[in-house]
Amino acid sequence: MGAEPTTGGETADLTGAQEYAAEWARHLRRLGFVPLDPVEAERLLLVHTVRLAQALLASDFTARPAQDVGRALVEAHLTEPQMLDWSVRTLGVSFCARVVPGRVDHPDTPARVAALQAAFAAGFARALRDRTFAQQERIARSAWQARDQIERALRDSEARFRAVFVGAAIGVGVAGVDGRIVEVNQAFADLLGYTPDELREFNVAELTHPDDAAGMWELYQELVEGRRDCARVEKRYFRKDGTAVWTDLAVSLVRHADGRPRFTVAMVQDITERHALQQRLRFQAEHDPLTGLPNRTLFFHRLNALFAAADPQQRIGVCFLDLDGFKAVNDRLGHHHGDLLLGVIADRLADCVSGLGHLVARMGGDEFVILVDGGAGLDEVVAVAEKVLAAVAAPVDVGDHQLTVSASIGVVDSPVGQTSAAELMKAADTTLYWAKGEGRGRWAVFDPERSARDQARSALSAGLPAALDRGEFVVHYQPIVSLVDGTMSAVEALVRWVHPELGLVGPDRFIGLAEESGLIVRLGEWVLGQACRDAERWRREFPDARLVVSVNVAARQVDDPSLVDVVAETLRRTGLPAELLQLELTESAATGGPGEPLRALHRLAGLGVRLAIDDFGTGYSSLAYLRRLPIHALKLAAPFVEGIRADDPTNGHRDERIVDALVRLAHALELRVTAEAVETVEQVERLRALRCDTGQGRLLGPPVPADGISARLRGTPPA
Ligand code: C2E
Ligand code: MG
Ligand code: MG
Repeated sequence: MGAEPTTGGETADLTGAQEYAAEWARHLRRLGFVPLDPVEAERLLLVHTVRLAQALLASDFTARPAQDVGRALVEAHLTEPQMLDWSVRTLGVSFCARVVPGRVDHPDTPARVAALQAAFAAGFARALRDRTFAQQERIARSAWQARDQIERALRDSEARFRAVFVGAAIGVGVAGVDGRIVEVNQAFADLLGYTPDELREFNVAELTHPDDAAGMWELYQELVEGRRDCARVEKRYFRKDGTAVWTDLAVSLVRHADGRPRFTVAMVQDITERHALQQRLRFQAEHDPLTGLPNRTLFFHRLNALFAAADPQQRIGVCFLDLDGFKAVNDRLGHHHGDLLLGVIADRLADCVSGLGHLVARMGGDEFVILVDGGAGLDEVVAVAEKVLAAVAAPVDVGDHQLTVSASIGVVDSPVGQTSAAELMKAADTTLYWAKGEGRGRWAVFDPERSARDQARSALSAGLPAALDRGEFVVHYQPIVSLVDGTMSAVEALVRWVHPELGLVGPDRFIGLAEESGLIVRLGEWVLGQACRDAERWRREFPDARLVVSVNVAARQVDDPSLVDVVAETLRRTGLPAELLQLELTESAATGGPGEPLRALHRLAGLGVRLAIDDFGTGYSSLAYLRRLPIHALKLAAPFVEGIRADDPTNGHRDERIVDALVRLAHALELRVTAEAVETVEQVERLRALRCDTGQGRLLGPPVPADGISARLRGTPPA
């Protein structure tokens, strides 16, 4: 290692200087944070060690370099107070011996070392102070700059607000929390037809309008009391000239720094046109374009509102009206004339209730409805219905035609609490259907019991097809007995439904339904098959009885072109001889229809099957006509047979004479006669005296399952 030359002749020991610097750096690291890497720190401290050594050795001594070293350490962020402590102390204790050993004994050395120590410390401290000042100044400058910026921004936003306020197309107004208007822009003033100065004389409370939405002023109150920060409503204002303007109004609350409400800023925009458009669209959505009447949307809206608001005792009435035969008008005269007719009817309906406050609506097609709300009860609704029927009945001129139309009306009246909107309308619809069914041109009043029956009927009807598929039907047989010798010559097949819930259901409750739905054709086929099977079984078991099975055939079956084939096929399949099958037809089934039934009857007779007219005397067929039918027997209807009971001599004698005449005429036509509903021994005796051939009724044997007939044939009493 060499030595660093100095002006004073002595030199610094470089090895010693390096060691000194290394220890200095080590010590620094021990103290904690050093913002330099170790090599860099050591190199820096070596430079300073050498500068201190040179200062000590200089012939012309100055402590200034030590001051620079102290400052340099601070500038290198080596500002730890203990670092200063160590550096100053070591400079006084071991620096000389280790870095400038040749100078240790020099008489100036202690004074020079002390001066270096002091300068080092002073440089360090001054640098530290300067740095703190610099930092403070930087902060202060930043603060000033920031304040400057904020002020400028505030000035800008104020200017912008002014620009917006003055130049805005939208009306802006500022009011105190007491409602006093402080400031309005030109747009606001123009909107209401005042000058800004005039408006500043107003209090916002003076700007009310009778159309103001419910709760609007409560909102404003909440705003000025600081319970909300903004509110938005659509509001009408009166202009200075008394006309009204619709606006979209948004009000915001501006608070003091401590949160207290300070003033409100309102922004208003003219939406009169938009509002008018909305109103037009709404009208269109709720009215029928053809008649101008409210449509079903508005009707249900009103109806639901009534149900929502009214007290449960309040009555609500509906007249549900449908023109009779309107389709024919359309078909005959064209839709244009149909439309004209609807227009006239709509006007008449509206006239009927004008001034009464009832809503008239067109539900669609030729259906109209009148809502009688809060009425005095059924009488009032019926009065409306009668007035309407009279109004509709007056002749209508449609183009070149004069039409006379009628309407049917379903009338419903109920306290609100006892029904719902949907139920009410369903009842009205049902009742309208009744009025139509009862002959049109009339009103009918809803009857809950009848409706319940209707519903039970339709439930029963809906269940029929599945019941047939599941095999829920059975056939019972009622003996038809010779009035001469008391033998059972035939049995009538009578169907029953073993209903899973209702038990045994009689045919009177479901045959009509099956006829309406057409299911009677399938059901009748099934009964025929069952009856023929049972009859064939009896024929085999009791060949001498020659028991005939008599099966009822409905008019719908006679109309069915496949009836003859079905009968022939059933006979073939079951093996029953045709002459042991009798078919019972009602008078209308046998005589109605244009030719087809007659052909079917002849073909059936051709098969060898016997034909009987059931319930004879209840229809209107003439014997002259019956003469042309290929029939074998008449079954006298129950009322005549009932009439020959002894307890009613006058009518009894008359009925007896009728039966007498019928039997004679029947025999003249070579028809056999069966009396139905024979219930007493006396009836049997008289019928026998009148030469009636056979009888059927409770006295002679009620309808029983097939086994009951077998037992009777066997001569054993039924189990
Ligand atoms: P219907 O053909 O005139 O049958 C006679 C009805 O009189 C039967 O009623 C029978 O039970 C009832 N009856 C029996 N004895 C007496 C009596 O002493 N006095 C009175 N007043 N009535 C008596 P049911 O079984 O209820 O049948 C009613 C009607 O249902 C039948 O009248 C018939 O028109 C129809 N019907 C029954 N089964 C069938 C069927 O399979 N097909 C068709 N199309 N109709 C059927
Ligand atoms: Mg019958
Ligand atoms: Mg009968």
